[in-house]
Amino acid sequence: MKSLREWLSWTEEKRVAIGHFNISDSEGFKAVVEAAKGLQVPVIIGVSEGEREFIGLEEIVALVKIARGNGLPVFINADHTYSVEKAKAAIDAGVDSVIIDAAEKSFEENVRMTKEIVAYARLKNPEILVEGELGFIGKSSKVLDTIPDGVSEETQTKPEDAKKFVEQTGIDLLAPSVGNVHGIVKTGEPKLNIERIRAIRQAVGIPLVLHGGSGNKDDEFINAIDAGVRIIHINTELRLAYKEGLAEAVKSGEVAPYKFMQEAVEDMKKVVISKLRVFNGELTQ
Ligand SMILES: [Zn+2]
Repeated sequence: MKSLREWLSWTEEKRVAIGHFNISDSEGFKAVVEAAKGLQVPVIIGVSEGEREFIGLEEIVALVKIARGNGLPVFINADHTYSVEKAKAAIDAGVDSVIIDAAEKSFEENVRMTKEIVAYARLKNPEILVEGELGFIGKSSKVLDTIPDGVSEETQTKPEDAKKFVEQTGIDLLAPSVGNVHGIVKTGEPKLNIERIRAIRQAVGIPLVLHGGSGNKDDEFINAIDAGVRIIHINTELRLAYKEGLAEAVKSGEVAPYKFMQEAVEDMKKVVISKLRVFNGELTQ
């Protein structure tokens, strides 16, 4: 079975991106895994600090390992981890990748924290990937009326800063600020800055991760992948599908959870399938 690192090399060859979907319970997990299984593509399960607290870090790592034991290329990422301690705990629990997010700190402090996690991960298991963050993209997973404060073209990640950051930290993956925003902005703005993505990718030479993919259009994803994005995060769209599917299902008066939850799972699956098709070049390659 290929490791996540090997699957990333595969995305380079195929010029596709791996879908990363956040979940916080077994229904979300089921939806993502069944969608990926149906399409026969690799997928990453993402759990933020709050999400992993809810489902349990060891529990979700175990679920992913069971799925992998069944031959599915499913991986687990400890999404946005704001402290060194929690990033180390995630590595100890056996995640495939971890994001140390010190993007709101000074450049020097961001480098220091990120470097510490890279060193720790290498010592534990060289297959574990470490992702660093440079540039602010907001912190919400909701539907927003306007672009969050602090997100603008001026605050987007500069290629020369990205190069310095990657060289000084030794990270495997970089999440830049390139017109992407966490959550969904109702106006559909901002658009992804494709030329900036391309310039950063050329400067750093490692795969880029696009956060806050909810709300972006399919052609933006296609162009971003062409410019060097290899992992795309979707969270808010999945949360909305879950909530709306569940709200609809409970109206029926059904009391068996495995029946009324099924509708929410099916609605989430639809979102995952449509994204995975786009990320994987409509599966034509
Ligand atoms: Zn994110």
